Amino acid sequence: MEMWYTEKQTDSFGITAKITKTYVTEQTDFQQLDMIETEEFGTMLVLDGMVMTTVKDEFVYHEMVAHPVLSTHPNPENVLVVGGGDGGVIREVMKHPKVKKAVLVDIDGKVIEYSKKYLPTIACELDNPRVEVLVNDGFMHIHDHKNEYDVIMVDSTEPVGPAANLFTRGFYQGIYESLKEDGIFVAQTDNPWFKADLIQSVNKDVKEVFPIVRVYGANIPTYPSGLWTFTMGSKKYDPTAVEESAIPELDTKYYTPRLHKAAFVLPKFVEDLIK
Ligand code: SAM
Repeated sequence: MEMWYTEKQTDSFGITAKITKTYVTEQTDFQQLDMIETEEFGTMLVLDGMVMTTVKDEFVYHEMVAHPVLSTHPNPENVLVVGGGDGGVIREVMKHPKVKKAVLVDIDGKVIEYSKKYLPTIACELDNPRVEVLVNDGFMHIHDHKNEYDVIMVDSTEPVGPAANLFTRGFYQGIYESLKEDGIFVAQTDNPWFKADLIQSVNKDVKEVFPIVRVYGANIPTYPSGLWTFTMGSKKYDPTAVEESAIPELDTKYYTPRLHKAAFVLPKFVEDLIK
């Protein structure tokens, strides 16, 4: 008998993956957590029925959260990751020697625990001495840490459940206050095919808080529609003004100095969304 995992990405559309094993299926204090083995994409973490990361395509998302913003800030010594309990963004952050301390704040310790066990190639830097892992609500953390971070990366789940308040104007105001006077933040901001209104509302809210706001994209096959967006809010540095020659060649599989510039070139229908 074949077993398939289907993610309903809208009420009438989804993706399905043939699975060979279920490692974990557990209702944590915050969400339904499933860790499954898929034939096509390897081990897959699913939260509340939504694909979070897979061993085969995770590098795209984790590189594209971490490297554009860390290549834009000239001295990102103190950084924060909100969410990101699978450890993939932290692994990419560790490729930047200028980062002296990276704090990860995920609300659900079970994500961290099971990612370490079943996603070792993704969670491999969570024990790095430069990393501090905290289990807490990211919304609370930023309010308790004002004027502290050079860069903040928001690697949260969709704006439902525990992450509902991580896509609000109040959250972006809190991010602004938690950043130093030349700080930058980036957040994953979903896809323009099924979540155009979210991209628009986030863009509007971030523009009310930050002087520089930029959106870039990446191709992530296991995320809804495959076209993913990221929204950056910056107090001083413009990611599209960074000289390609100033961007370091890193040990990556998706991000390059050339792609840094190209990622900010958006399809017309996405440009029109954020005008
Ligand atoms: N790449 C995925 C995506 O784009 O949907 C996100 C992956 S990461 C596993 C998402 C993490 O956000 C989860 O581990 C979840 O526990 C965490 N999270 C959700 N709400 C949070 C909150 N309020 N504070 C901190 N972490 C939160």
